[in-house]
Amino acid sequence: MAEEVPAKKRIGVLALQGDFEAHGKALARAGAEAVEVRSADDLQNVDGLVIPGGESTTMWKLLEEENLLEPLRAFGLRRPIFGTCAGAILLASDVSNPHQPSLGLMDIDVERNAYGRQLESRIATLQPEGLNGDLEAVFIRAPIIRRVGGDAKVLASYQGNPVLVEQGRHLVATFHPELTSDTRVHLMFLDKVP
Ligand code: GLN
Repeated sequence: MAEEVPAKKRIGVLALQGDFEAHGKALARAGAEAVEVRSADDLQNVDGLVIPGGESTTMWKLLEEENLLEPLRAFGLRRPIFGTCAGAILLASDVSNPHQPSLGLMDIDVERNAYGRQLESRIATLQPEGLNGDLEAVFIRAPIIRRVGGDAKVLASYQGNPVLVEQGRHLVATFHPELTSDTRVHLMFLDKVP
């Protein structure tokens, strides 16, 4: 008799703005089924959600226009969310430079575009906790996580600042794991998805 193949996890990717396509491909490489999310209804059918990088002010405005802020907050109280770069900004408790509202699903404070103009993008090598070996990380106009509170746990730092943080079911990265072929950070998130 053939062995049963476990069902793929269905992961939503918030697809209002930003690099959601690359996340969809990265999730597929990691063995999940990726579904683009644009409405509260779409959220009903996914086990976890990725909020991609992009422009957090624009993304927030679109979430407001689509009446998605409350459904997203409610989703985050039940299900795992992985926020990368702009996605990490949206999940934070407090956002500066400039200040803007956020979902407050993670006990972290972030400063936007915090690496300064001359260093807008770069590739760095990280040694994250729980991953075997080095990880190449692409930073693009990244925020800096200035405060990590409660039971939030820093899994990797760069230049002394946290760049990969988990808290309960949620995960944030200030870099872009969807832009490298390495699937380990996406797998780390998939592990959080029941
Ligand atoms: N600089 C963007 C912002 O503040 C984030 C950049 C990114 O997502 N790559 O929203």
